[in-house]
Amino acid sequence: MALSGLDIYKLLPKTNCKQCGFPTCLAFAMQLAKKAVSLEKCPFISPEVKARLEQASAPPIRPVTIGAGEKALVTGNETVMFRHEEKFRSPCGLGFIIDDSQGDAAIKASVEAIRKFRLERIGQLLEPNLVAIRQTGDAARFAAAVKTAVTAGAGEFGLVLASRDPQALSQALEFCATGRPLIFGADAGNSAALCELAAKWKCPMVISAPDLEGLSALSQACAAKGVQDLVLDTGKKSAPDKLWDLTQLRRLALKKSFRSLGFPVIAVADDPDPYAETLEAATYVLKYASIVLVRNLKAWEMLALMALRQNIYTDPTKPLQIEPKVYSFGKVTEKSPVLVTTNFSLSFYTVAGEVEASKVPAYVLSVDTEGQSVLTAWASEKFTAEKVGQVIVKSGIKEMVNHTQIVIPGYVAVMSGDLEEASGWKVVVGPKEASGIPQFLKNLRN
Ligand code: SF4
Repeated sequence: MALSGLDIYKLLPKTNCKQCGFPTCLAFAMQLAKKAVSLEKCPFISPEVKARLEQASAPPIRPVTIGAGEKALVTGNETVMFRHEEKFRSPCGLGFIIDDSQGDAAIKASVEAIRKFRLERIGQLLEPNLVAIRQTGDAARFAAAVKTAVTAGAGEFGLVLASRDPQALSQALEFCATGRPLIFGADAGNSAALCELAAKWKCPMVISAPDLEGLSALSQACAAKGVQDLVLDTGKKSAPDKLWDLTQLRRLALKKSFRSLGFPVIAVADDPDPYAETLEAATYVLKYASIVLVRNLKAWEMLALMALRQNIYTDPTKPLQIEPKVYSFGKVTEKSPVLVTTNFSLSFYTVAGEVEASKVPAYVLSVDTEGQSVLTAWASEKFTAEKVGQVIVKSGIKEMVNHTQIVIPGYVAVMSGDLEEASGWKVVVGPKEASGIPQFLKNLRN
């Protein structure tokens, strides 16, 4: 449980010596409770108190890093049950399972296909994060399959070694441990051997048990062996049962400060029917899986899950926005049309996509509406005739074109007269829906 400022104050020396830069120990304690300063600022805190304060200030769900380098996946570190309370912090890691029973050529082809599953959406690049190799045969085959996957480029992703066989894992880790793969996984029967491997190679590890009591006991046993970067798994279950487990785990970690269950959670949606699998995986992305693995190598399935993840893991208090400025599409000239919209990412990229689809070179003027969409910004007076008029002057668009005509969104047709008056430009009312832009632009005359 997090300590209050007064709780912390009781543990401090109470000499008010000011060496921490604060006038009193109480002032320092209040800042510590807000995590605005570091403990190190006070040189007089005893090791015992320091250990206690560090334990109390540890995140309720331990952050665990899988993979290495720029694309390493940091999972866990969540602090709220519901997105609207603050935000979800660590986007759910998404990945594919590849069985080692597939031939090397098929494994290579699968990895190459996964590397192409990318989507740029509202200005962000969406990609899968993990490739899991699952053991179905002997140790040598598993190690060979992992090697094939790594050679084919699976090392770009976090690697998951899905095996309960210490010998198979040991062989695979010999050549891929530097990439910090996730060992999946340990259970009551093999945890001692797998803890040795995880500790030796400093890799995170999944622990599996069918119930929460078993998971708690297993996490404590692993912690006693020095393995603390854990991911929890409650095994193969129906989607409702899995959702129940995921919800209980999040609740116990956050609301009850149950330290032995305060870890990220993995869920596997392993259904031969890709539609059923997508629904199951989407359920886990929504609540509360930290990692979701699927088996079907369907681009549409992964793109849908990545878009869903993007929606869930944006900060609800901060609309996604782009830099307000003039954007050009195609080989623009001084005759190219000028469209205006807001700097809300979704509005902008929807307009941009349709302008590109029209093949008509055009300028799009993005107005700073603090990330609000057209109608919302108009209603809150952030997208007014006066504001658009000012942007026409300040953006430099006047110097880019030899005409004075601007296209406004159909939903704010009402501002036409005022905008003509404020800017001196001719205002043309565009379509209400962005989907009408291609046809509109083809018929537009300056
Ligand atoms: Fe108190 Fe430590 Fe700050 Fe001195 S340095 S005022 S003892 S908190």
